[in-house]
Amino acid sequence: METFDVAIVGGGPAGSSCAAFCALAGLRTLVLERENFPREKVCGDCLNPSCWPVLERLGVAQRVRDLPHSKLDSVGFIAIDGHEVVVHLPIGDHCEFSVKRSLFDDLLLKRASDLGTYVCEGTTVTALANSGNWKIETAGGESFSAQTLVGADGRNSTVARLRNLLPRPTRERVALQAHIPLPRNFGSRVVLQFLQEGYSGQAPVNETQLNLCLVGAPPTISRLRQWAERHFEITPDQPWRTITPLTRSPVPCANENLLFIGDVARVVEPFTGEGIYYALRSGELAANAITKIVRRKDRQSALREFTRASAQMYRGRLWINRLARAAVLWPHVGSLFVRAAQIQPAILRLLTRKIVSYRNDEARMTNDG
Ligand SMILES: Cc1cc2nc3c(=O)[nH]c(=O)nc-3n(C[C@H](O)[C@H](O)[C@H](O)COP(=O)(O)OP(=O)(O)OC[C@H]3O[C@@H](n4cnc5c(N)ncnc54)[C@H](O)[C@@H]3O)c2cc1C
Repeated sequence: METFDVAIVGGGPAGSSCAAFCALAGLRTLVLERENFPREKVCGDCLNPSCWPVLERLGVAQRVRDLPHSKLDSVGFIAIDGHEVVVHLPIGDHCEFSVKRSLFDDLLLKRASDLGTYVCEGTTVTALANSGNWKIETAGGESFSAQTLVGADGRNSTVARLRNLLPRPTRERVALQAHIPLPRNFGSRVVLQFLQEGYSGQAPVNETQLNLCLVGAPPTISRLRQWAERHFEITPDQPWRTITPLTRSPVPCANENLLFIGDVARVVEPFTGEGIYYALRSGELAANAITKIVRRKDRQSALREFTRASAQMYRGRLWINRLARAAVLWPHVGSLFVRAAQIQPAILRLLTRKIVSYRNDEARMTNDG
């Protein structure tokens, strides 16, 4: 059996980014992905501007821009009583951008494959054993061997669960998502709408479709769906994708020759639309660490550096995440905030710009030395 330098479980943005950077560094790289791509995913489909530098380093920024998409020029915050405050977003090449995950994730996984990654789709990892190297077994009865292992298999990670590291999920909220016909005159904006039972995120993803997300507690989610059916004139047989949990504790990102990236390491509040950025960037950081480990540089210092850089990635951002979570957990409070912003919009503008801003972490790290 061939032993790979690195096996990555999950071919979402985190896994594909890590695989592409590992392959670029010349490592024998394997990705095991449960689904057959292209596949959709519960997501608002919005790329934060900070994604662009990573996509440029991956060599796919232009190809992403060439996919069917929308450039989002504003965010409309709507209070429960219907009052709306609009905050304008930066425009240009590094704008907030929406693209269906079926297209985006497929492009990234293909990029990893084109760079030399061995990709197995339709392959679910079910068992792991570590005896120096990792032995990875799949539902189809195949087994693979690798020196280092990366868990990139999302918020309900099998890898973390198999290693007894997955925090107990709190099933406090559930998300529903669908692509529906784009309402006339919707414009190029993201809408974040507080509702009695939770909230809804809406964004056009191309010239004809709207991404519609609903987030609420399990007992109220059917009321949210009925609201969406009335509001957007969609039929009750509309298929919805669903996911839970929306909140859980983080998992330590470095465990000897096992690294965790993307949603496995930390699930952030979807309201802020930053998860894809963290997935891409943590994939890049893990690839840097794995390259050093495989080239027999000091393993402990590579892992320490990965842990430090991962923490740095979130620095200055998590308090906004907590604020957003509080606003959506108590939509009446979020609504009051929107009403206050009608009189004094500066704070909402500041918070939005803090989240939706172009940030090149690689350049920042180089400058920091
Ligand atoms: C309602 C909602 C809206 C959101 N909106 C946005 C947004 O607008 N913008 C944004 O940036 N983020 C958003 N997010 C967050 C974003 O979706 C995630 O942060 C992002 O998908 C994380 O990427 P990942 O690669 O870590 O995991 P994932 O994208 O979940 O990829 C994990 C992959 O692992 C595979 N896998 C799982 N188990 C196994 C297994 N046992 N074996 C093999 N493969 C396996 C899965 O099939 C999947 O392809 C939203 C999240 C939610 C819930």
